[in-house]
Amino acid sequence: MSTQIPETRCLKCQSLTNASSNVTGVDRPKPGDVNVCAYCAHVMAFADDMGFRELTEEERAEILSDPVLRDVVARVNDMIVAKTTKH
Ligand SMILES: [Zn+2]
Repeated sequence: MSTQIPETRCLKCQSLTNASSNVTGVDRPKPGDVNVCAYCAHVMAFADDMGFRELTEEERAEILSDPVLRDVVARVNDMIVAKTTKH
């Protein structure tokens, strides 16, 4: 069961997403939670209105120093590579 969120476009690739790949393990994303775009692996945060916003420098540093989040970003990258090389 994936969590439904309001349709929001990726800030980088503009892909429309309405399902959150939540990496923090909670059921419902909340403002400040991290979201990784399944199309381009862009890392964003949920804004107060549950749209996306770019990470702050502190959040970016936090992710880079968090092995769990780094692993999630790496896995999404792998998925994207697997998809784009399968022709
Ligand atoms: Zn994207």
